Amino acid sequence: MLDCIIIGSGPAGVSAGLYMVRAGLKILIISKSENALEKAEKIENYYGFENPITGKELIQNGIHQAKRLGIEILEKEVVAIKFSDDNCFEITAIKQNTQEKYKAKNIILATGVSRNKSNIKGLKEFEGRGISYCAVCDAAFYKDRDVAILGSGDYAMQEMKELLPIVHSVTLLTNGKEFTKKMDSKVQVNTKKIKQIHGNRRVEEIKFEDGTSLEIDGIFIAEGVASSVDFAKKIGAKVNGNYIVVNEKMETNVPNLYACGDCTGGILQIAKAVYEGMVAGLEIISKLKKS
Ligand SMILES: Cc1cc2nc3c(=O)[nH]c(=O)nc-3n(C[C@H](O)[C@H](O)[C@H](O)COP(=O)(O)OP(=O)(O)OC[C@H]3O[C@@H](n4cnc5c(N)ncnc54)[C@H](O)[C@@H]3O)c2cc1C
Repeated sequence: MLDCIIIGSGPAGVSAGLYMVRAGLKILIISKSENALEKAEKIENYYGFENPITGKELIQNGIHQAKRLGIEILEKEVVAIKFSDDNCFEITAIKQNTQEKYKAKNIILATGVSRNKSNIKGLKEFEGRGISYCAVCDAAFYKDRDVAILGSGDYAMQEMKELLPIVHSVTLLTNGKEFTKKMDSKVQVNTKKIKQIHGNRRVEEIKFEDGTSLEIDGIFIAEGVASSVDFAKKIGAKVNGNYIVVNEKMETNVPNLYACGDCTGGILQIAKAVYEGMVAGLEIISKLKKS
């Protein structure tokens, strides 16, 4: 059994990992390889570099440093986190359609902040009234109803798996993206561009840019890659808008679930991410030493 799985190999996740591995803990980092910081051409406000460094170099240096100290980094997308029967966490990660599960006593969410999510008219307005961000949490409310999923990647497929045994039908909304995968007979794929989500007190229909519409009982949002906030919500951790609520020890309200870096909000900078990663790592070390 692993002491800790860290999701995200940016400054926060790697910083947490460095402390834990040097203390002899059994840890694993699971992360997609893309990092927003790679777009930074020049970084000159982080300690220790006489000359500016590119975001790409800084990220690569961190990963090489982690690997040199013996941290295993799996390049995969995490699509689900659940509690397992033995009071631990079970993580599902995917790479090239192959799904694997991993178990750990503690989890650190360090997936950064989610960017580029849709700003479709009506989406915010109907949150909690037909718009859901969590199939595990809300699927039961849509028993035998017609629902849609906004998204077309691995995360959307995972949400679909949760919904299919419960709902009457699922429409996958790609919002203009091409889609070629073969789907279950209960699934329709709609690639039209969405104009608006419409309803009176709740979501009732989706209007498309070509003038057509689709009547629907609910829409599950699963665009792109699941963020820390998506995971936090599913597992019962408190969030505040786009950020996870943590205390000064980087603990969420869910025992043994920590969050650090951009996903906890505040100043979205490398120095803060590295600091919070250290705090989460040290807290887990101290807790495990006491037990
Ligand atoms: C263009 C740009 C320029 C910047 N310039 C500066 C600067 O000059 N100075 C500065 O201090 N800060 C800068 N920042 C901010 C800085 O990048 C962030 O504050 C910092 O990277 C946060 O670190 P993090 O570890 O919390 O998250 P991130 O660095 O965002 O790392 C998160 C990691 O988690 C992975 N991930 C996400 N979801 C999943 C999932 N479901 N499964 C598996 N892996 C997942 C991502 O692929 C990524 O590798 C800049 C940001 C951008 C976008």
